[in-house]
Amino acid sequence: MKLSNISERRFTEKDLFLLFFIVWLLAAGCQNTEEAPSVPDGFNVHPANSNTPYKNVLNYCIGQKYPSQSRSLRTLPLIGQVTDNPGVEDIMNRVLVSHDWMANNFRTLLSLLPADILELFKATTGVVISSDIRPAYYNPQTGAIYIDPAYIWLTNDEKLTISNQKDSRSDYGKTLKFVPLWRYVKDKKYAYSGTDWTKQYNRTVDDVKIGLAHLLYHELSHANDYFPPPLIKTINLDQTVQSAAYSLENERADVKISRNSSIRLSSSVLFTLSNVLYGGMQPGSAENGYSPDTVSFELKKEPANDMYNFYGVEDIAMVFEEVMLHYHYGIDRQMAITKMPAVQNPTAADYVISWGQKNRFMDDRLKPKAIEITKLLLPKYDLSGFINSLGKATEMVKNTTWADTMYIYKTLLPPPDTRLSNDILLINYSMK
Ligand SMILES: [Zn+2]
Repeated sequence: MKLSNISERRFTEKDLFLLFFIVWLLAAGCQNTEEAPSVPDGFNVHPANSNTPYKNVLNYCIGQKYPSQSRSLRTLPLIGQVTDNPGVEDIMNRVLVSHDWMANNFRTLLSLLPADILELFKATTGVVISSDIRPAYYNPQTGAIYIDPAYIWLTNDEKLTISNQKDSRSDYGKTLKFVPLWRYVKDKKYAYSGTDWTKQYNRTVDDVKIGLAHLLYHELSHANDYFPPPLIKTINLDQTVQSAAYSLENERADVKISRNSSIRLSSSVLFTLSNVLYGGMQPGSAENGYSPDTVSFELKKEPANDMYNFYGVEDIAMVFEEVMLHYHYGIDRQMAITKMPAVQNPTAADYVISWGQKNRFMDDRLKPKAIEITKLLLPKYDLSGFINSLGKATEMVKNTTWADTMYIYKTLLPPPDTRLSNDILLINYSMK
């Protein structure tokens, strides 16, 4: 994947001011030291475990929004550099939270998730859960995952402590002629719930568990892409997280897939459109002119299970999350290219399908890719027999609506906003 395809997170003027201030502070004497400088760009977070052996370094290494430099692995190693079989508390010792309930809920949910999720944490340095994170992301400069707590609140009081700001990506691609949609479905219902900021209600762990599994499989695949599991133990601690990632670039799953002509992506139309949809690129007349059928034609012939595959390093993550959720929970993923609705505030019945599939990863072109990706990211487990035993992807019916394909559409809980991509790529660092 060319790094030029990675979109930058947008900085506000305030952010830029803080960034310059940090650079000034560092230039004024903090450079080349691993002692924690007091910088003003931190999340307002504290360790989930007050007695963690990393309590003095977590904030310094992973608690900054726009870190000015990557920290040494000797200060905070990858979890897999210090343990072969991490348990829930090994992860919790690396967690920073803005509110204590986030630690409690995250701990409870981790203990309910599949064991391979703990294994995948070996490629990370830690986790930050803060009320002002939206959307979630993985940062290869810190090696940590940043989680939007909207995934894990259970009581209405907990919900009230979280930012209810609109996702910054909500308006991307508004002038295009098509809308890509997706959702995870279990037992003819959404597999997990979203957040309605206007209503008072509580949720159970069962309402949110699969949403967190979805997010973690996605973000952890990024971590295991940058830090390939077989190499984690060999990484020299006397380097920064970022320089370690850079030294492993040729071994990355994303790079290996892009060298394999039978499973790599190639549509230049979809690469460009993904920058509009997920990076906020201003579309030109060409992009605004593509019909839903043209986009469907392009996507159908690609070994991709979503438009998001074409953005940055997302190809690996998109295939991996779909396989793992089906493997553990029997969940189906539906995706479709639909016509941009002409009405204001459209509902599912206003999105007319041009083309779509259920369980796209079961397509003949995607199964070999799914096997390859699971081998690279989870070498301890062999999912090839499972993937080969599956049937085929199911075609959706052209010109039906997104509501028609949901057999039962009634739920008391709001569905997640599945027009949005899972996360955002934070950075455009050269990795050098
Ligand atoms: Zn991602």
